[in-house]
Amino acid sequence: SRDAVSYFGAGPAPLPTPVLEEASKVLLNYHDSGIGITEISHRSPEANAILAHTQSSLRKLLDIPESDGPEGYQILFLQGGGSGEFSAVVYHMVSVWLGALAKKRQQGLDQEAARLRLDYLVTGSWSLKASQEAARLVGAEHVNGVTDARKHRDGKFGLIPPPDTWTQTKTNDDVALTYYCDNETVDGVEFPSPPSGQNLVADMSSNFLSRPVDIRRHAAIFGGAQKNVGTTGITIAIVSNSILPPHAEMADPTLLRKLGLPVGPVVLDWPTIAKNNSLYNTLPIFDVWIAGQVMQRLLDQSPVEKSPRIAEQEAESNKKSQMLYSVLDGHSDVYNVVPDKSVRSRMNICFRVKGGDAEAEKAFLKGAEGKGLMGLKGHRSVGGIRISNYNAVAVAAAEKLARYMEEFAGERK
Ligand code: PMP
Repeated sequence: SRDAVSYFGAGPAPLPTPVLEEASKVLLNYHDSGIGITEISHRSPEANAILAHTQSSLRKLLDIPESDGPEGYQILFLQGGGSGEFSAVVYHMVSVWLGALAKKRQQGLDQEAARLRLDYLVTGSWSLKASQEAARLVGAEHVNGVTDARKHRDGKFGLIPPPDTWTQTKTNDDVALTYYCDNETVDGVEFPSPPSGQNLVADMSSNFLSRPVDIRRHAAIFGGAQKNVGTTGITIAIVSNSILPPHAEMADPTLLRKLGLPVGPVVLDWPTIAKNNSLYNTLPIFDVWIAGQVMQRLLDQSPVEKSPRIAEQEAESNKKSQMLYSVLDGHSDVYNVVPDKSVRSRMNICFRVKGGDAEAEKAFLKGAEGKGLMGLKGHRSVGGIRISNYNAVAVAAAEKLARYMEEFAGERK
């Protein structure tokens, strides 16, 4: 049964049981209408109310500026997952960059366009994938690897190289975006605070809603919902008005094509999605509803006077992750934490069981499963053990796991 299991999957990931209980009811009959939530029109008043509730909850939780001016931010719901946004950010930021350039200069644009740079901080598997997608779309010559953490550590991820080693593009006018992944789900690396950079874009798929975010430093933030926020099917993007019409001029698709730059599909086009309040095409309203319920629970536990109201969740995430890391550090003869101490993720705790052989890790996982501690296998690309400590993992579940880790370490000595 659900009660007998503590689940630490990396995504899809656990959701609060009360939300799922309510979800099972609304699937059959939404608000006593006799119609299930996945059956109602995405343009119905009910769907609009769900959309508005989820947007306003997110605004309150993360203190997202609301204004039509350039200082405001839009909240968009998209499909295509986090990976879809790897492409969307490139299409959009390149169009904004070229739009601004075309406004300044009419002549010699092809020479100017050769200066386009997309700055990527590669600190783990997901930022690597995002940078590869950028190179696929615009050509590797336009992608500047500001840093590649593997080069600082035996070819493996696990640290964030110091900023004085970064090679950011010097001329701000050339930088369409500076990209980073706030939390690397596979490698267990999390930025302690946002890096600096021109037109900052962040992937927060795996640490969304786990701590306050300095929204105003970012041009855009995105994240797939299926970890801390909800179910697979929607991606949330928080996009600054300053990079959307009418505050920013998008490049004409004809011009982009002429200069050999990509024109993206309309369903990934942020201005189109923003203009249509995320209802350009059929939006999976059930996923938006789930996210709204998860957010409402966070709001209910966070004092109104606090802004942003996510501080309670941050304290809980810190408490759980510190407890788990302290067991690992306390048995450093048995366990080896993968990332450097300074960049350890609070969300994905990646470690190896010493002894070197896969058998030791298999034994760890088997023993864990015997106790109902599930979903602990590391990502297939790196192996090892990964505890995903997302918001819906209860303190009691983390404590149970910590006890098991103590026991397992005791037996191996
Ligand atoms: N970014 C991060 C940080 C992720 O963890 C993931 C998925 N685990 C993605 C992007 C890709 O998301 P999706 O599978 O929804 O495309």
